[in-house]
Amino acid sequence: MNSKTIDFSKFSSIRIGPVVDVALIENDYVPEGHLIIGAANNVLVSLTPPPLMILSKEYDFIRLEEDSLHIGAATPGGRVVSFCKKNDIAHFEYLSKLPGTLGGMLKMNAGLKEYEIFNHLIAIRTQSGWKQKSEIEFGYRKTSINEVVFEAVFEVEKGYSPERYEMFNQMRSNQPHDPSAGSCFKNPSGDYAGRLIEAVGLKGKHCGAMAFSEVHANFLVNTGGGTYQDALTLIHEAQTRVKRDFNIDLQCEVVIIDQNI
Ligand SMILES: Cc1cc2nc3c(=O)[nH]c(=O)nc-3n(C[C@H](O)[C@H](O)[C@H](O)COP(=O)(O)OP(=O)(O)OC[C@H]3O[C@@H](n4cnc5c(N)ncnc54)[C@H](O)[C@@H]3O)c2cc1C
Repeated sequence: MNSKTIDFSKFSSIRIGPVVDVALIENDYVPEGHLIIGAANNVLVSLTPPPLMILSKEYDFIRLEEDSLHIGAATPGGRVVSFCKKNDIAHFEYLSKLPGTLGGMLKMNAGLKEYEIFNHLIAIRTQSGWKQKSEIEFGYRKTSINEVVFEAVFEVEKGYSPERYEMFNQMRSNQPHDPSAGSCFKNPSGDYAGRLIEAVGLKGKHCGAMAFSEVHANFLVNTGGGTYQDALTLIHEAQTRVKRDFNIDLQCEVVIIDQNI
């Protein structure tokens, strides 16, 4: 089995984590006891992660077949948008603003507002074969996917929209520029995690070099050399204060990767 050395303090979007050998998935062989990662835009990796694996380049592809779109799970969102623009395909414009690979997006049901990756999904292929969308449970930033996704097929509708592309650009204009893993917590039903973090006095709060951003409180940012432990301390502080003051359990959207979790 081939592997690849990854320095998570450079590879992950939040710039935290160790240097580890990660098993490469080739020819659909999935090693036992390993956790899959994509492009690490939604993860916080500790210094002691479990064995990790990543899809090889063979899963980075996109092709149009009759009236469906076949996309490999290692394909970055930006590549999907470029392909859709070139082929005049609608509904994938928002992916330009979601850093990551298709596999990570499917697992998280990633999206922007009502635009989510499951909206136009037909089926996924995993290590146990093809699964239709109707066989998968999904909701806001969650799915029942618990296997490695190799590829997926989507419905195709004509009509790439530069206006929608621009709208998504605008939506992103208020995001912090410091390294982060995107939203730290899921929005609780009927409320916003950012509002709650601000209300309990944690907007701009630092622990070491990690902080809840002054720009958007639900972004846990790394201002330079932040650690896993600092990040975890802030996450726990926010959960404790929001529970105390609002009786709401804030759930992490960022996926914490540690061998003991
Ligand atoms: C600045 C910024 C802004 C963001 N904004 C948004 C946003 O608006 N909306 C949104 O939804 N997300 C957002 N995110 C989060 C991120 O873009 C998405 O979660 C994306 O789907 C992560 O993809 P990834 O390849 O990096 O996955 P990773 O972070 O590597 O992994 C995420 C999860 O997916 C699993 N996974 C990865 N690949 C596979 C696979 N092939 N098969 C099965 N499981 C897999 C991992 O085990 C992990 O549980 C943002 C992130 C950043 C850094």
